[in-house]
Amino acid sequence: MTRAYNFNAGPAAIPLEVLQQAQEQFVDFQGAGMSIMEMSHRGAIYEGVHNEAQSLMRELFGIPDNYHVLFLQGGASTQFAMLPMNLLQSGKPAAYVQTGAWADKAIKEAKLIGETVIAASTASDNYMRVPELSEIQVPANASYVHMTSNETIGGTQFQSFPATGDVPLVADMSSDILSRPIDISKFGVIYAGAQKNLGPSGVTVVIIRDDLAKDNPKTIPAMFRYETHAKSNSLYNTPPSFSIYMMNLVLKWIKAKGGVAQIEQFNRDKTKLIYDAIDGSGGFYTGCAQPQSRSVMNITFRLGSEELEKQFIKESEKEGFVGLKGHRDVGGLRASTYNAVPLESCQALAQFMVDFQKRNG
Ligand code: PMP
Repeated sequence: MTRAYNFNAGPAAIPLEVLQQAQEQFVDFQGAGMSIMEMSHRGAIYEGVHNEAQSLMRELFGIPDNYHVLFLQGGASTQFAMLPMNLLQSGKPAAYVQTGAWADKAIKEAKLIGETVIAASTASDNYMRVPELSEIQVPANASYVHMTSNETIGGTQFQSFPATGDVPLVADMSSDILSRPIDISKFGVIYAGAQKNLGPSGVTVVIIRDDLAKDNPKTIPAMFRYETHAKSNSLYNTPPSFSIYMMNLVLKWIKAKGGVAQIEQFNRDKTKLIYDAIDGSGGFYTGCAQPQSRSVMNITFRLGSEELEKQFIKESEKEGFVGLKGHRDVGGLRASTYNAVPLESCQALAQFMVDFQKRNG
C-alpha cells in the first residue's frame, strides 16, 4: 500500500494507525454484531465512546472542570453565527481581531446579529502577520473578543493570547486545536471543526465556560443555544456518532504519542524542515507570512512566477504529494502540516523542494 504525502488543508491527514483501527472495528464494534454507525446514540456502547472522547479532550487539553466540552454539527462556520447569537448583547459590541479570511467570515456573521468593532487588524499587511498583543484594543464593555488562533489560508498563527479580564476571549482554533498546550482558563469559548487536527469532518468541538452556556437568550431556537447542548451532554439530538468515534481514536493516538506538549515538539520539528528549505533557498522560495507570525500548521510560500508554481504542483503530484496548492483566494503554495502529518512526509517535501530548485533555479 502506498500512502500519499498528504498536505491537505482540511479534511486532512488522519493517522494511519487510527484508520487501521477503524477498519478493524468497522463491521462489528465491540462484539455488538453491528458497526458503531448502526447503533443507537442512546445505547451504552455509543455513550461510552462519547464520554471517553469528552474526557480525553479534557485530559489532553487540560480543560478545567468549569468548562463544557460540546460536540456539535455545522462546522466552525456555524459557530461564526451561533457565538454572536448566544453572547452578543445589545449595547455591548463584539470585538474581533481581523487577521484573515476566516476572521472576516466570522465578522460578517456577527454583523448580522449585532454591533461589532475591530479590536486589531492586519488587513493593511495583507494578513501576512498577526498583531502584537499590545495592538489589540478591546472596549471595556465588549460582549466578547474573538481571535482566529491560526489563519489556515494566510499561514499565520498567534504565539500567545491576551488577558482580557472580564471580557470573554473566544478563539476559532479550527486549524490548530490540540497542536500545542494552551491555558484554557484564559478563554471563554474555543471552537474547532474536527477535520484538520481531530479526525474527519462532521463534528465541531466547542469548549465553553459554564457561565456562557447558561441563560442564553430564550429567543434562540433550541439547536442554536449553547445551553441546550450543555444541559444534554451534546445528546439533545442525534450526534455525528461516527465522526465522534473517529475523533476518540485520534485523541487516543495523541495520548499514546505522549500528549499535546510532545505533539507540539513533533510539529515544530516537522515544520522546521520546510521553513528551512524556504529560508535556505536564496530567494527561490519566499515565505508568505512574516517570520514572527509563521504558522506551525499551514506553511504558505511562493515561487518566482505562477508558471513555476504550476510546474511545482504538477511535478510534486507525480511524486505522490497532495494538497500543496494554495487556497484559491490567495494562490501560491501551502503545506498543511497538522498533527497527523508524519515527519517522513515533511522530509520528503523538503527534499523535493531542494531537488526542484536544482532543476529550475
Ligand atoms: N475557521 C478556520 C480557521 C478554518 O480553517 C475553517 C475551515 N478551513 C473554518 C473556520 C470553517 O470551518 P468549517 O468548514 O468546519 O465550517
